Amino acid sequence: MTTPVNSRRWTNWGLNQESVADVLTPGSVDEVATQVKQAGDSGRRVKVVGSGHSFTSIAVADDQRMYVHRLNHLISVDGPLVTVQAGMTLSALNRVLAENDLAMPNLGDIDAQTVAGAVSTGTHGTGIGHATLASCVESLTMVTADGTIRRYTAASPEFPAVRLGLGALGVIVEVTLRCVPAFTLLAEERPMTLPDMLAGLDEWIPQDDHVEFFWYPYTDRGQLKRNRRVELDDRPLSRFRGWLDDEFLSNTVWQGVCSLGRRVPGTVPALNGIAARALSARSYTGRSHEVFCTSRRVKFTEMEYEVPRAALPEVLAAITRIFEELPFRVQFPVEVRFTGPDDVWLSHGHGRESAYIAAHQYLGAPYEPYFRALEAVCTPLGGRPHWGKLHYRDAESLRPAYPRFDDFLAVRNELDPRRVFTNEYLTRVLGS
Ligand SMILES: Cc1cc2nc3c(=O)[nH]c(=O)nc-3n(C[C@H](O)[C@H](O)[C@H](O)COP(=O)(O)OP(=O)(O)OC[C@H]3O[C@@H](n4cnc5c(N)ncnc54)[C@H](O)[C@@H]3O)c2cc1C
Repeated sequence: MTTPVNSRRWTNWGLNQESVADVLTPGSVDEVATQVKQAGDSGRRVKVVGSGHSFTSIAVADDQRMYVHRLNHLISVDGPLVTVQAGMTLSALNRVLAENDLAMPNLGDIDAQTVAGAVSTGTHGTGIGHATLASCVESLTMVTADGTIRRYTAASPEFPAVRLGLGALGVIVEVTLRCVPAFTLLAEERPMTLPDMLAGLDEWIPQDDHVEFFWYPYTDRGQLKRNRRVELDDRPLSRFRGWLDDEFLSNTVWQGVCSLGRRVPGTVPALNGIAARALSARSYTGRSHEVFCTSRRVKFTEMEYEVPRAALPEVLAAITRIFEELPFRVQFPVEVRFTGPDDVWLSHGHGRESAYIAAHQYLGAPYEPYFRALEAVCTPLGGRPHWGKLHYRDAESLRPAYPRFDDFLAVRNELDPRRVFTNEYLTRVLGS
């Protein structure tokens, strides 16, 4: 096969996906429309890529790869409704919102994703009063397969599909987000045993705005994180403590620990025991986005499963058994988060309170038997895999997990009948 002249190689953040494809870099919405129309007319495909932070092959282009990073401007601020171009990163969005005394009501762990990429895969943080970032989308503008620029609002029948469209429905060019007045969080983090954390959840989840915990494999220990909205930003983290915990220990030291564990797998349980015991308590205040998001420089691969909240203890008990049976060691902690229901058709939290269980392995360490075993536990519980994190499900197996799955497919047939926006991943999870 000959390689087209303007083709370029791409890899995702996790370095587990790559592709070579022709590159499109539109600088305006009209250019997006022209390039999409040309692709449709000539029987070619277009895959938009955001920041490449998905672990699945959802952003892998096999024909033309469109970057929308030049569409990264603020369009308007109208009270709490903020309209931005879709290629803006969450970190840039957070800066723009702060300048306008606004904030996103909730965020995930990092801020490197683009607004469109984050919304399109169901990116979420933690907090029972919150759902995926897609639930904050008030309206959006998208270029569909025939090159038409369409605006979707709550009044549009397609709205529950296009808010979280997996990149399968069109190229999002503008997003209006419902934001909230800027707020301060009090973060309280403390090491605890797993049984104590599980015992306290029913009390903390409704009481605190954002609750999550990390659990270290081969130990019964972890770190509980509770973030609460407060009026005063009176306990800022010292620069040194912030650097020590979030940069030095979480990145530099953790990188060394992980590479030792990968080289000498037998040391992993002891290393995890030391890591879990080295955890310390801290309490500080900060602006919301600075508390939610940290830098993640140690590379890993990840699976994240959403299950009905009540199923969490069963899943964690099964993971303990999985650790014992795996032919390799698991070093990264398991992360557990909680969200409330929404009505977005392909949202993991559609119609129910959720627990999210995230499994990670250090870059280059084996993971597939671990992830498959976790999936085998979560699937019969009605579990829904994060669209941007590794999983092995296909359309047939996903249909029963999403009550509005076929409605989503009908919108896809209407907006992209010739599958201009498809790729191998979308064919697997949505069907051809
Ligand atoms: C270190 C790390 C931490 C993470 N933390 C979290 C977390 O806390 N919570 C969470 O839920 N997830 C998390 N993720 C997953 C991540 O948020 C999602 O995979 C997200 O989709 C990545 O955004 P992106 O801009 O990189 O999109 P990409 O991965 O590049 O693309 C994802 C999908 O969006 C589509 N897309 C992108 N732009 C457009 C557009 N303009 N129009 C239409 N479709 C578009 C792509 O075609 C593709 O289908 C994390 C990932 C990493 C690597």
